Amino acid sequence: MKLQEYQSKILFTMYNIPVPNGRIAESIGEVKQISEELGGRVVIKAQVLSGGRGKAGGVRIAKTIDEAEEYANQILGKEIYGMPVRKVLVDEMISIDKEIYLSIANDRNSQKPILMASSFGGMDIEEVSRSNPEKIVKRVIDPLLGLRDYQLRDVAINIDLDRDYWQDFSTIIHQLWKVYVDCDATLVEVNPLVITSEKKLTALDAKVVLDDNAMFRHPNLNDLRDKDAVPPSETQGRKIGVSFIKMEGNIGCLVNGAGLAMATMDIIKELGGEAANFLDIGGGANAKKVEESLRLILSDEKVKAILINVFGGITRCDEVAKGILSAFKEIQTNIPIVVRLVGTNDKEGLRLLQDTELIPAGSLLEAATIAVGKAGEGKA
Ligand code: GDP
Ligand code: MN
Repeated sequence: MKLQEYQSKILFTMYNIPVPNGRIAESIGEVKQISEELGGRVVIKAQVLSGGRGKAGGVRIAKTIDEAEEYANQILGKEIYGMPVRKVLVDEMISIDKEIYLSIANDRNSQKPILMASSFGGMDIEEVSRSNPEKIVKRVIDPLLGLRDYQLRDVAINIDLDRDYWQDFSTIIHQLWKVYVDCDATLVEVNPLVITSEKKLTALDAKVVLDDNAMFRHPNLNDLRDKDAVPPSETQGRKIGVSFIKMEGNIGCLVNGAGLAMATMDIIKELGGEAANFLDIGGGANAKKVEESLRLILSDEKVKAILINVFGGITRCDEVAKGILSAFKEIQTNIPIVVRLVGTNDKEGLRLLQDTELIPAGSLLEAATIAVGKAGEGKA
């Protein structure tokens, strides 16, 4: 779960990490009021879950309250990278001497947290990593020992940070580490951390990503989930207890197991099709979940075919078949549905599906081939 910048900054404030004064606004009137409070010179920042907002016109520096209103007008209600801007953060304008990149993230290679810093802050860090990889200093953090002070000095030296800032720099990193650990984050990123013209360190931008699998430990943080920022179908998926991610294709997928779901999407792609979603119904899926999942898939108007791929281990194929049947008692659709059921009680399951419109398939390859074919016809 990604937090919006303003939410990340609230979290930072709770951990005494300095951020500019500012507040969130949803209307031009609010922008005006906040700008007045902050003295007119403000930055208007689109709150969308994406980096590179600056480049896309989503971060504008206003010198006057009129300008603040004008920029808010240009940004609010528009789209940035395809995402609607419903809120803007109005931050006091900071005069910047230097921009630093700073983050703590889960590192897959070392399977540990990693601290990254660079004197090339404020820019697209992926680009820096391509063009000047040596400019990003990386230090693996031992999760049992935590951050060590020598690591922070080492990082400070390697990004050529003036000695005057070392104390504040290491305090900020220690606090970031606390955020990362306390909140079960997978990423805490400050890009840029700036040295202001008043010689203070401040987090000008903030990005926090929390581990969805740990959210049950953080009910208060879960309330921060921005329901506007995720497709409604994904919110619905969470509600019915399946892993659902919306994609852009036209073949709906209903699969048990994340690995099998990915393999299903791969084979669809390989055959020239495009999946409309990722859906892992999980182990032991019962009829009700199947029914709700099918409704979810069918709520996407783009879907022209559905591929149900179930490998019955814990999940019993006859339960799945019952779910499909009960779903179709309720839902009217002429969308072709291909079913591959293999494993526990598969014969029973397939027998239940006889005499229906469903298209049975013996293998995944066969099932995917039929689904891709049907979706193609639907397009034409
Ligand atoms: P991002 O493009 O989505 O990463 O948004 P940022 O919040 O990082 O802003 C992009 C850039 O805008 C920063 O790197 C700064 O150069 C600039 N910027 C943002 N806020 C301020 C500010 O208060 N003062 C100044 N001078 N520049 C700012
Ligand atoms: Mn940034």
